[in-house]
Amino acid sequence: QKSEWALLKDEPSISKDGTQVELVANIGSPQDVESVISNGGEGVGLYRTEFLYMERDQLPTEDEQFEAYKTVLEQMGEKTVVVRTLDIGGDKQLPYLNLPTEMNPFLGFRAIRLCLEEQDLFRTQLRALLRASIYGNLKIMFPMIATINEFRAAKAILLEEKESLKANGVAISEEIEVGIMVEIPSTAVIADQFAKEVDFFSIGTNDLIQYTLAADRMNEKVSYLYQPYNPAILRLVKMVIDAAHSEGKWAGMCGEMAGDEIAIPLLLGLGLDEFSMSASSILKARSQIKGLNQKEMAQLAEEALTKGTVEEVIELVKSKTVI
Ligand code: PEP
Ligand code: MG
Repeated sequence: QKSEWALLKDEPSISKDGTQVELVANIGSPQDVESVISNGGEGVGLYRTEFLYMERDQLPTEDEQFEAYKTVLEQMGEKTVVVRTLDIGGDKQLPYLNLPTEMNPFLGFRAIRLCLEEQDLFRTQLRALLRASIYGNLKIMFPMIATINEFRAAKAILLEEKESLKANGVAISEEIEVGIMVEIPSTAVIADQFAKEVDFFSIGTNDLIQYTLAADRMNEKVSYLYQPYNPAILRLVKMVIDAAHSEGKWAGMCGEMAGDEIAIPLLLGLGLDEFSMSASSILKARSQIKGLNQKEMAQLAEEALTKGTVEEVIELVKSKTVI
């Protein structure tokens, strides 16, 4: 199988009936780019920048960050690189920031919430990204957006930094798309409103599932509630994709679900444009998508949305596809 998949390395990702999607990779550092390319990734759908901040005892400087972003952008060439701004907190801690211990870290002061308050830290990262933007095809994505005002505030800061760099003669790309992760149910529910303002969505199912089913993604005791195929999740995913498309925007997914063989037929059917996964899953996913008919999967997905349980959804997918 592996050698068959290898033949697909430079092939586009197209369903049997001609629907093309993008299969891209999640990375955590510049060292990961090599495997994105060798596994036929069409871009980077999620660069988790928090690893630059972890495993050290102080914040990375603007120049250190600039070098990391530039390296990834240059190595990816024309291909898209979606960089997520700092998503610290929850399961990812930074001891040197001395943040207070929280009762519910996953519901607490993390990601964009922290960046909007600790603006020096946020602005440093944004400047590094803006300066790196001329070396490739950069898109910037904000994590854990819960309200439209948070998105507006983050984007306003980005534009301020851009203007001030330009005023100082720094070259910056004018093509940078600015999007959000959809990983909080409130954002999925009013995705139609967000879609008027963002350039793209990337659905973060790792968190979206835990918040929708109120089940801590780290807690074994409630892991039975961690249900990617729950019709509630599928309906939220559909809302996000439809909202994006009504405004002419694109919708991707960068949670683990995007590379899952039961989920892929459903996501293709729902019209997902971009699937971001670990590099090692890309060729297998491409092979699966090549064997699927998008129009049939659209019917399958529609039927799945009318089901009540995960078991029924899994059975349905297995009855209509070869897995
Ligand atoms: C997600 O929540 O789905 C996601 C991709 O982000 P992380 O796993 O880094 O929280
Ligand atoms: Mg997340």
